[in-house]
Amino acid sequence: MMTTTHILGYPRVGEKRELKFALEQYWKGATDVKELQQVAAGIRKKNWSLQKNNELSFATVGDFAWYDHVLGTSLLLGHVPKRHQRGFPDLDTLFRVGRGQSQASCGCSGEAASDMTKWFNTNYHYIVPEFTADDKFELSWTQLFDEISEAKQQGHNVKPVLLGPLSYLYLGKEVEEGFDRLALLPRLLTAYQAIFTKFEKLGVEWVQIDEPILALELEPKWLDSFKLAYQVIRSDVKVLLTTYFDSIVDVLPTITKLDVDGLHIDLAAAPEQLNDVVKALPSQWVLSAGVINGRNVWRANLHGKLNGLRDAKQQLGERLWIATSCSLLHSPVDLDLETKLSEETKNWFAFAKQKVAEVSWLSRALEGDEKAVEYCAQYSQPIIDRELSTWVNKASVQQRLAGLNANDAKRSAVYAERAHHQKEVLQLPLLPTTTIGSFPQTSEVRQTRAAFKRGDITSAQYKTAIQGCIQDTVKRQEEIGLDVLVHGEAERNDMVEYFAENLSGFQTTQFGWVQSYGSRCVKPAIVVADIEREAPMTVDWTCYAQSLTEKPMKGMLTGPVTILCWTFPREDVTRETITNQLAFALQDEVSDLQAAGINIIQIDEPAIREGLPLKTRDHAEYLDWAVNAFKVSAASAKPETQIHTHMCYSEFNEIIDSVAALDADVITIETSRSNMELLNAFEAFNYPNEIGPGVYDIHSPNVPNVPDVEWIEQLIEKAATRIPVERLWVNPDCGLKTRNWQETETSLKHLVEAAKRLRTTLV
Ligand code: GLN
Ligand code: ZN
Repeated sequence: MMTTTHILGYPRVGEKRELKFALEQYWKGATDVKELQQVAAGIRKKNWSLQKNNELSFATVGDFAWYDHVLGTSLLLGHVPKRHQRGFPDLDTLFRVGRGQSQASCGCSGEAASDMTKWFNTNYHYIVPEFTADDKFELSWTQLFDEISEAKQQGHNVKPVLLGPLSYLYLGKEVEEGFDRLALLPRLLTAYQAIFTKFEKLGVEWVQIDEPILALELEPKWLDSFKLAYQVIRSDVKVLLTTYFDSIVDVLPTITKLDVDGLHIDLAAAPEQLNDVVKALPSQWVLSAGVINGRNVWRANLHGKLNGLRDAKQQLGERLWIATSCSLLHSPVDLDLETKLSEETKNWFAFAKQKVAEVSWLSRALEGDEKAVEYCAQYSQPIIDRELSTWVNKASVQQRLAGLNANDAKRSAVYAERAHHQKEVLQLPLLPTTTIGSFPQTSEVRQTRAAFKRGDITSAQYKTAIQGCIQDTVKRQEEIGLDVLVHGEAERNDMVEYFAENLSGFQTTQFGWVQSYGSRCVKPAIVVADIEREAPMTVDWTCYAQSLTEKPMKGMLTGPVTILCWTFPREDVTRETITNQLAFALQDEVSDLQAAGINIIQIDEPAIREGLPLKTRDHAEYLDWAVNAFKVSAASAKPETQIHTHMCYSEFNEIIDSVAALDADVITIETSRSNMELLNAFEAFNYPNEIGPGVYDIHSPNVPNVPDVEWIEQLIEKAATRIPVERLWVNPDCGLKTRNWQETETSLKHLVEAAKRLRTTLV
């Protein structure tokens, strides 16, 4: 008897982002829905065939999404925000909810998209379901059932995947006051019953129901709702209750009482849970062991995994299934496409396609197939060898890290003293004005960078072009009248990629794209070795910019935690170790910038909050090392060198202590959308250093988006009721690279004018 094997989902973008391009053509009106459907059907067909060719037991269906799978679930349930309802929902309804509707396209005042937020602790974003008290749920969207039939016609043994009712409710939000979305559960369950009836009719044997919220620390009212919910939706279809991203050991007593037929656990995120789960597993259930990491790019050590599973296999026999830890949505598609990796490096990785094969080989080896056992050993050798490679383990980096102590994280003076020095050196006015770093990136700038990367222009030509941009940016800032200038980041495609390319220890790929949301994909670099700064990374550009002006020029670095969060980490060292290596590299950059005469240096940490572990009880440990790493980066700054940091999100309350512990001299944050409400946290806490609450919302979908002087004034006045005016800065709430010059210049002029007016009236 064969071991049952499956994956939790496969990337839907296509190996060369075919879906992205097809969507964008369709949105532009360049193609019709038929052409779009064709591309999508092609991707699905390929994905299912791959699973079959690797002899997986099931083809997973329902993982395809036009924009996002949570949004797809909303459509399946006929749950569309009222403002987007126009008769029977179709594909355009779905896109309207995901992307909003512009004035031009509807001839009305335009309708906002639903909010988007992060899918647990991944870099994928989902469209947040909006709940009101009178919401109804009604099957009105047949995509899932059509795809089941489509896969069956292609000869597959189908296992549909469906987001579970409790996770669906939990991940949404109430959009009116005074009701609790959990009250909608009974109505929602009726819709789920109807889905199961359809599954029965379609002859589905197993369904994968994703309830990832079980890995959170759920409030009792949510946890207690599971029992009844799974009783209500019980049918003849077998249910594999699916969890991922963290351990579910805490809630095993609840889970094991549910009316389901099996459990999937994530053994990449939480390998230690295996024994407890095996012990507690009801005797008729299957256990799907998620051993192949769906969230990273590394080849699995199949040999090691095989040994780790032997006991469970012994105890469970055929009831042990082999799977990926989570959906492969979070890993790039196909390593075979990479033509620029060295043979050695290529043997370290496995993307989605390769991971499907890993599932297959591992299961065969587990059954005792000699050939497979041998293959697993051989396959694992490159990553075992890698751990001993001197190219990966750099003695100098490791020595420095071994010596890391409390002093490495310490500035040489406390804030009050530093502030005093900085005042003297910088001579800034009250309410100093600045920006967050990037300025509009025109297509010309992008083309220049691309041409240089391709080797079409020489480095001298490239340098001249970028210097031209810097000149232009500095001149415009002087004309606007800003107090602290920036060079504008024209040399950066992306704030993390730039540092990954300039530090040793990273590997970049050609096609390693991962969906972020909708048609948007990111291509994170991979940390492959100990990280080292071989040469200064930003000093030339920054000093060139400083040479053009008398005003202080702010150096611009990306912080260690953000670089960690937005790249694929190594799996052989901890996240903390990687972050500390980055911190030392950045510390050296800070030293060099200040030695070259740069007196203000910003170390961006927009990702510090998203790196938080899923369980609150694990937060403190993470924040401890994350804060420490930031402090190490900043520690070489002399008292008179002013360190800024920047974060762009609005929920600070839970991490405000840690934000303060960064001890940056100035922090710039996002507040304009929340109308300064965010400052409550800073006020209640009595934030000790300087703050620049954003007064120009650069993420606004309105184009152009130009706040007027009075609007900015009242925001600053509001801020001044909470933060002493001597410690307030005036700035936009994020980088300006996505806006255009005209809007940017007008807005910044308003911002400068508002600051000037308040300098006389506020004191
Ligand atoms: N310095 C970066 C910029 O201005 C910060 C971007 C960010 O916070 N995401 O683009
Ligand atoms: Zn930002």
